[in-house]
Amino acid sequence: MGERNRLRDYRGKRDFHRTGEPEGGPPSSGEEPRFVVQIHDASTLHFDFRLQVDDVLKSWSIPKGPSDDPQDKRLAMPTEDHPMEYEEFEGVIPKGDYGGGTVIVWDHGTYEPLSHDRKGRAVDFAESLTHGHATFRLHGSKLHGEYALTRFRGGEDTDGEEAWLLVRAAKGRAPGHGTPDPRRARSARTGRTLAQVTADGPRE
Ligand code: MN
Repeated sequence: MGERNRLRDYRGKRDFHRTGEPEGGPPSSGEEPRFVVQIHDASTLHFDFRLQVDDVLKSWSIPKGPSDDPQDKRLAMPTEDHPMEYEEFEGVIPKGDYGGGTVIVWDHGTYEPLSHDRKGRAVDFAESLTHGHATFRLHGSKLHGEYALTRFRGGEDTDGEEAWLLVRAAKGRAPGHGTPDPRRARSARTGRTLAQVTADGPRE
């Protein structure tokens, strides 16, 4: 499946003459896979969690955001694959458009795929996502450490909407601090809050 094809859902939902979001170009080949967490003040305020797999960003909408406390199991609803350039996207999507509202880059960086089978052998990360359980270590400016994404509803042999959980691995750690208030949180790219990006207008 080509990159053009994989972004069909993403492109079908947007009018790139209106939104400042990237349309997505040819794949870039970095060394380490990237991740980004955005805060998106759309019809409901939520976090968007994206992991680079091959040449796209696999995406989940997380109402409460990722937590660094292993006690917090965070609901993660899959959304369409996004282009790699979306990692940099921060701005205002026009009201009335798909996802209308302000986006900030809350955190970004690289991740190490850690997925393995029951015998402890490393498995292909994309394949582990297909099977509904993937583990990885984040190296962001805010998020650090091991996390797991696990599908608990829907998936390979079933109809209906998928639902996943994002959980921090316990691994003998003290509880973390949870997630900061998204209205006060600052961009890892520009230091701005949602309100400041909104005030700065639709284009950067
Ligand atoms: Mn979103």
